[in-house]
Amino acid sequence: MDPTIALLADLVAIDSVNPSLVPGARGEGEIAQRIAAECRAAGLTVDIAEVSPGRPNVVAVLDGKTPGPTLMFCGHMDTVGVSGMTAPFAPVERDGRLYGRGAQDMKGGLAAMLGAAGQMAAEGLARGRLIVAAVVDEEHASLGAEALVATWRADGAVVTEPTDLDVAVAHKGFEWVEVETRGIAAHGSRPRDGRDAVMRMGRVLGRLEAHDRRLQKRDPHPLLGTASLHASRVIGGHEWSSYPERCVLEIERRTLPGEPQGIGRQEVDAILDALRREDEEFEGDARGVFNRTAYEVDAGQPLPSMLIDAANGAGCQPGRVGMSFWSDAAILSAAGIPTVLFGPGGAGLHSREEYVRVADVRMCRDTLVALARAFTAR
Ligand SMILES: [Zn+2]
Repeated sequence: MDPTIALLADLVAIDSVNPSLVPGARGEGEIAQRIAAECRAAGLTVDIAEVSPGRPNVVAVLDGKTPGPTLMFCGHMDTVGVSGMTAPFAPVERDGRLYGRGAQDMKGGLAAMLGAAGQMAAEGLARGRLIVAAVVDEEHASLGAEALVATWRADGAVVTEPTDLDVAVAHKGFEWVEVETRGIAAHGSRPRDGRDAVMRMGRVLGRLEAHDRRLQKRDPHPLLGTASLHASRVIGGHEWSSYPERCVLEIERRTLPGEPQGIGRQEVDAILDALRREDEEFEGDARGVFNRTAYEVDAGQPLPSMLIDAANGAGCQPGRVGMSFWSDAAILSAAGIPTVLFGPGGAGLHSREEYVRVADVRMCRDTLVALARAFTAR
């Protein structure tokens, strides 16, 4: 068996469900030890840094004979939960696919980058430096990537999230905003006393829906389409015969590169201001709960075309694409490390049946080897 695929099966067999998503879950401790052992055996220098108790990042370094550019490969070790899966940690290879939780997101990418690093260590690096970073907690708060960029620097990075072997140079960001409208509680028979907070939220919802239509009519980003927003959850009211005094709405605004941080909150504030101007009894406000920025590689960066050349040399023809989902690439990029996403294809991210295409994992590894040679030799 190809050693990279054997390693992939080993990684899938190790439970690394994120304990911040699933209370009591195993976390990344065991898989980090396995990855560290793999890197040491390959001859890399290994640094294990605990990010939170029992949850370490593993950073392995291969130095060239002379100084030169630094290339980083980065992947997350955690997975989402496994509810509804029959045998999430029993990897099965069938019809060119390897099944199991995390196979695609993203142990396939991890195995590919570790395999590539092993091969580079075996052949020796003439110049520069290769850093392989396996990080914790991408599926929740990205504590691992934040800790990584606080210590480590690179001239370019590849995050091996699943991209179907395309080169992703941009992805959307998101912002969560909570809106509260207030009314006056009263018996349902007393309309003069009651003010209905849920009805007031209805006005907000109507404006938000119109705003979303406007967002989606704007000129699309060439790789990411348009920004958008949706109502995620609404909570309000107690019983049939009472006016509700409070209603809470959670919305998610998906953002594009170049949009300012806090744009969703600003848009909601503008809607609330307009509603107050029309009706001075209207009461409501908004607060930003969480946000993650969109990212796009600078047009002048050589990394995307170097990666495409490397892939061509290895026998595949990636497109230059954008991804809809957020990733750690935004954190690396914000820290000044030009970053692209490139990883194997498969299906079933975050769902009951997840697999990665085995041939894609090998192709990803071979591409990363070719990139490491070219990038560090510049
Ligand atoms: Zn992922």
